Amino acid sequence: MALIRRLPDGLVSQIAAGEVVERPASVVKELCENSIDAGAAHVQVELSAGGTRLVLVGDDGAGMEPEDARLSIERHATSKLADAAGLSAIATLGFRGEALAAIASVSRFTLTTRPPGALAATRVRVEGTGDPRVEEAGAPEGTRVEVADLFFATPARRKFLKRAATEAGHCVETVLRLALCHPEVGFALTSDGRRVVTTAPGAPLRERVALALGREVHDSLVELSGLSGRVQVTGYCAPPDQSRPNGRDVLIFVNGRAVRDRALAQAVFRAYASLLPPGRFPVAAILVALPLEEVDVNVHPQKLEVRFADPRAVFEAVSRTVAQALRPAPWLAKAAPPPPPSARREVRGAAPVVREAGLADGGWLSPSFPMERSHLGASPGAPPSEPRGYFSSLRVLGQLAGTYVVCEGGGGALVVLDQHAAHERVLFERLREARRGKALSSQRLLLPAVVELSPRTAEALGARRDRLAEFGFEAEPFGGQSWSIAAVPALLAHAVPGPLFAELADGLVHFEDAGAAEDAVNDLLATMACHAAVRAHDPLSADELRALLSALDGIDFKVRCPHGRPVVTEIPLADLERRVGRR
Ligand code: ADP
Ligand code: MG
Repeated sequence: MALIRRLPDGLVSQIAAGEVVERPASVVKELCENSIDAGAAHVQVELSAGGTRLVLVGDDGAGMEPEDARLSIERHATSKLADAAGLSAIATLGFRGEALAAIASVSRFTLTTRPPGALAATRVRVEGTGDPRVEEAGAPEGTRVEVADLFFATPARRKFLKRAATEAGHCVETVLRLALCHPEVGFALTSDGRRVVTTAPGAPLRERVALALGREVHDSLVELSGLSGRVQVTGYCAPPDQSRPNGRDVLIFVNGRAVRDRALAQAVFRAYASLLPPGRFPVAAILVALPLEEVDVNVHPQKLEVRFADPRAVFEAVSRTVAQALRPAPWLAKAAPPPPPSARREVRGAAPVVREAGLADGGWLSPSFPMERSHLGASPGAPPSEPRGYFSSLRVLGQLAGTYVVCEGGGGALVVLDQHAAHERVLFERLREARRGKALSSQRLLLPAVVELSPRTAEALGARRDRLAEFGFEAEPFGGQSWSIAAVPALLAHAVPGPLFAELADGLVHFEDAGAAEDAVNDLLATMACHAAVRAHDPLSADELRALLSALDGIDFKVRCPHGRPVVTEIPLADLERRVGRR
């Protein structure tokens, strides 16, 4: 007896309709979801030309009998939903019975399937809107779907596909997200014969999170776990120093689905609020599990959004769990006030990392300060003969909380600068000036630096080597997801090359994908500037502070850093006097 049934018309009309197939990644998503629903332990994905020429998904799941194989490509035919009551508690990834029909109608489609123990496999072929052909075939147990020449009959839609590398990148991302929330299933993805993703069934969640969010976060990931009422939250998040320039690396999963949910992303941002400067975003994979009937998955055609019966409760659960995981972590100690003076003296000799007001003995350079003094810009001996600008004329009083440069300005005003924002502004303006109409000049590294990129970026970056050169990088693929960096932008030669490169690469791929690469030049430069700028809690010597101030005089000064944060605040003496009751 066939398991698949056509949904009655009344029920069809209750299903969120819309475009299921937008690009190769949507095909990959629907086919992999079917494999997971079929109980597969291994899912294999093969792409050719980014999936525009071929998407192949094979599994070792339950397979289909001949009658089901034939029904599977009919619209609204599904084995996963029986009646309207079923819609309120959907336990499978699919339920609408329209994906195979939709995919088959816009491609050259072949499905070959054999349930375990069956003597033969069934093969169903369709070309676009033509009639299906069904035949017996020899094939291993499980199901294999081949989708060739997507949109072959609709050139207008085919035209909207991006370059193969971009489409491949999206497919990789789709598989990594499914792999993350289905650790029981092993995934393998090849793109034009190259192996891009391999995960064994049952591989630890941390591994899969690192695969999706970048190798470099693996060791520092903090585990999350919390239960509030009926909402369970698990997953991993990265410490605040692994922040990103946008919120794209906050991944949200609900009951085994990757979803876009602004509110839940906000819940994560809120938990990090006091730990990250404005304009920086956390890295996290949040898995929310709650009773099926408390979440409606039937709201988005591609099932990318869900609706909660009690959104507030889910928001609170996520925010609380993330905040709790971050609380005992060691980075909070960094923000703690410096030790009392007696303790300080003992530390000084061995490791001069303590900042203090006064800086009378300026000139000590902390070993933890990651860059040459010269990058701050003051060529030694050049500022005194020229007229002194506003910043150079400030008298530096010291560094506050390792983060702010406190100075005395004209008329006794208290001037407070955010050291990161200020340095970022300087680097940004210099980069912008240098980039105007030409490529950034680069500086070769003594030894190439190797960096592991996210699979999606590594895949999509291959076609963008020319753009890298415009930003001063010389780099090439180094096997797997690694790239080898031979040269970096000369203006940022002091920065650690790997993370700087990774952040630019992510940005390039993202913006080009959104068709905005040209307009995004400033965003990309801001990202690089932010990355290469001194951080809060980087100790700065007196010379370095002064170099920073004179560099600020040397740029076309805007009061805000590229991320919109004020660089400097001035408190007139009169205001202070009012506060202490002198006026
Ligand atoms: P849905 O997943 O919403 O039911 P689809 O069009 O994706 O709709 O699939 C139709 C039906 O075909 C499914 O309900 C399932 O019974 C069957 N099917 C699809 N893919 C597979 C697979 N890989 N293994 C076994 N059965 C499958
Ligand atoms: Mg499906």
